[in-house]
Amino acid sequence: MTRYTLPPLPYGYAALEPHISAEIMELHHDKHHQAYVDGANKTVEALIEARAKDDLRHVAALERQLAFNVSGHVLHSIFWRNLSPEGGGKPEGGLALAIERDFGGFGAFEKQLRQVAATIMGSGWAALTWDPVSRRLGTTQIYDHQSNVTQAGIPLLVIDAWEHAYYLQYRNKKADFFAALSNLWNWEDVEQRLLRAQTLDLAIGDVASVDVAADAGAPVSR
Ligand code: FE
Repeated sequence: MTRYTLPPLPYGYAALEPHISAEIMELHHDKHHQAYVDGANKTVEALIEARAKDDLRHVAALERQLAFNVSGHVLHSIFWRNLSPEGGGKPEGGLALAIERDFGGFGAFEKQLRQVAATIMGSGWAALTWDPVSRRLGTTQIYDHQSNVTQAGIPLLVIDAWEHAYYLQYRNKKADFFAALSNLWNWEDVEQRLLRAQTLDLAIGDVASVDVAADAGAPVSR
């Protein structure tokens, strides 16, 4: 089997202070993220065992468990890279143009993403995604780690809105945590992910068309 592994943080625990405390980063990465990695590996082992015993009675529960844990692993791995002690400011280049076209500007995008994060009911994430069908950027709420996701939508930038991501430092003021993240966004990382996502072709034919007149901002070459 392939084992999922915890990636090291690309910076020290205290590197994102004062915006995110070292205590939160250490717990969040070493305990919470590790738990999703362990959960994913245990579930894969359980599936292998179920096949070996020819006993698939619990396959539905195992698949749910696998989606939860692998999705938690993927989203945290993106989140760490999305942040940087040298981050903040505004995106440039192709990412900036795509945000301009699909949201009408960086301010409108940031407002929308924060609202998406602030209105999550229970545990979840807000994400900037690339939709390979419409070939556009969008935002989405992700319940827990895996639900409410458009199939094939690729997360480029994510906000962990679970309480474990902010509560020790921000308590009930989660909007302050979302606002503080704007000092940390690593836009080069987001653009690298966008460039790779844009190469994906689902091979499902012509299932969307462009209405340039309805575009919010400047056109972007495809
Ligand atoms: Fe988390």
